[in-house]
Parts: sequence; C-alpha cells; structure tokens
Amino acid sequence: MTVPDVADLVDRARRYEPRAVARLISLVEDASPQLREVAAALAPLTGRAQVIGLTGPPGVGKSTSTSALVTSLRAQGKRVGVLAVDPSSPFSGGALLGDRIRMQQHATDPGVFIRSMATRGHLGGLSWATPQALRVLDAAGFDVVLVETVGVGQSEVDVVSLADTTIVLLAPGMGDGIQAAKAGILEIADVFVVNKADRDGAEATVRDLKNMVAMSRRGVAGSSWRQPIVPTVASTMDGVDDVVKAIETHHQWLVEHDELGQRRYRRARAEVEAIALESVRAKLGGPGEDALRRLSERVSAGEIDPYTAADRLVEGISGG
Ligand code: GDP
Repeated sequence: MTVPDVADLVDRARRYEPRAVARLISLVEDASPQLREVAAALAPLTGRAQVIGLTGPPGVGKSTSTSALVTSLRAQGKRVGVLAVDPSSPFSGGALLGDRIRMQQHATDPGVFIRSMATRGHLGGLSWATPQALRVLDAAGFDVVLVETVGVGQSEVDVVSLADTTIVLLAPGMGDGIQAAKAGILEIADVFVVNKADRDGAEATVRDLKNMVAMSRRGVAGSSWRQPIVPTVASTMDGVDDVVKAIETHHQWLVEHDELGQRRYRRARAEVEAIALESVRAKLGGPGEDALRRLSERVSAGEIDPYTAADRLVEGISGG
C-alpha cells in the first residue's frame, strides 16, 4: 500500500470525506509508522467535540438508542461520529457487527460517521485505540462523538475516562442486574436512561433508580450534579429528545463548574499514561528482552531483589 499523504488526508477528513476519516482511524488504530505524524497533525485541531459515552448491559437497547440519539442530534444540525466499541470482538472497521445494521438508516448521511472498534487483543484495551479514533473525529469537525460500549467490567470504567457525559442505559426486568451493578453504575452515570419504557416494570425501575440516587446523594464526593433519570422507548424515539436535553444540561453544568476542563485533563492524562505504558511494554519485548532475561536470571539466583532489577530495567530501556 502506498504511504498516505497525512496532510491531504486530514484536509479531506475536515471536509467530511468518510474514506479519509476511516483511513486516519485505521492509521492510528493499527499503530502504523505514520501514527506520530497523524497524531501531531490532529492535535491542534482537537478539543471541540462533545464526547458522550453510552454504556449498559447487553440487550438494553444501546445500538437502538445510539441510532435514535443520532437522529435527534442530526435534527439539530449537529454532525455526529459514533464509535461502537465491542470489547469481545476481534474485528474492527465498518459495519461488521450484526447489530449495526440498524444504524444503516444513517449510512448515507455525510453528517454521520460510524465505526466499530474492536478492543480484544489490544494490550491497552479501550485505553489505547479508542481515544485516538476520537481525536480523528474531533479534528475532522464532528460536533458530537458518541462512544458506545457493551457494559462489561473495565470497558464501562474506561468509557467514563473518555466522555464528557456518561449515559448508563438500563431496562425494566433487570432488578437483580441493577442491584449487582449498583455500586459501579451510580458512580459512572451522569444521566440514567430507562429504555423499553413501553414494557411492564419500567415505572418500578425508574422508582428504584430514584431511590438509589437519593440514597447515594451522588457517589462522587463534592458534586452538586443530580443524575436525571430519563425513560425512553428508543425504537419509537419516545423520550429521546429528553435525553439530548439532559446531556445539554449536564454539559452546561460541567462548564459552569469548571468540570469540563478537569474531565478533559483526566482524559489526556489517561492517554499519555496508556501510551507510555504501551511503549515500555513494547521495549520490554524488543530491545529490553536481553536485559530482562539477564536480570531475571539474577533475581531467580537470589543475587539481586526484583525491585532493584525492575529499576535497572526501566533505566535501561528509557535510556535507549
Ligand atoms: P444492545 O444490545 O444494548 O445494543 O440492544 P439493541 O439496541 O440491540 O436492542 C435489543 C433489542 O431490544 C432489539 O430487539 C431492539 O429492537 C429492542 N428494543 C430496543 N429499544 C426498545 C424499546 O424501547 N422498547 C422495546 N420494546 N424494545 C426495544
């Protein structure tokens, strides 16, 4: 494959050429030789996009809700990027996941860009490739980027480190699930959505959540934000505009309380940390391999302790 002209790709991405956007994402996702050049070209163009995380257990209606939110945001004239992160999938790229079919109603809209991201097999998981793809969409001028993840363990937490506003999606009839997820979801949600409000038990789910929120008085210490609970029927768009309003209210709150900058700082920090750790790991497997072997032999022979060995190893690889 020919070496891409990064400046040209960035120009075209900023004119919303989907193929240029997709190519840039591939370049950052695959850690290509152009990665650093791409990252440097994107940096001055970033910082504008509003990043919304959406997570929840499988089957609650995340893809349906994502599609509905895109429709609602498009009606406001906003350009929307979607990163659908599936931690269990080894596939990346276009609409490879079956449940992305529903998103096809947006497939021909140039104001919408959708990308499925795989994180399985990536060492840093979500913390590695997704933030870089986010930078591409931000630099390309998308007003809103929705990051949708299947709520399984670490990915839920990671999505929070990415997002300005995190939406936790639940559905009726998951009473036990709510209890189980309780500690986790209370802390990460900025907005709760109870989807499938057309189903029996939706009111009870809303009530349970209200009680939980009231009792916790907000998990995050010192925060005056009260998590709203919005019922929706994503499949008919019912309540979806209310979710967009709740996101907007939360955004205002973040700005007024100087929290937006804090969140974005934490996001940058997590990125730098992930890249540094990844680079240390890569060096350990490459030039550091000899040193690691020698030092490990000495540790196993009882000649030096593992801390001293680790210090020497880190000094060695950062020097080189
Ligand atoms: P995900 O696994 O969380 O992404 O969930 P999906 O968006 O794939 O939705 C799972 C199923 O629930 C699909 O069959 C949807 O058509 C259905 N669904 C989504 N939203 C609603 C809703 O508001 N009401 C009802 N009754 N079904 C819904």
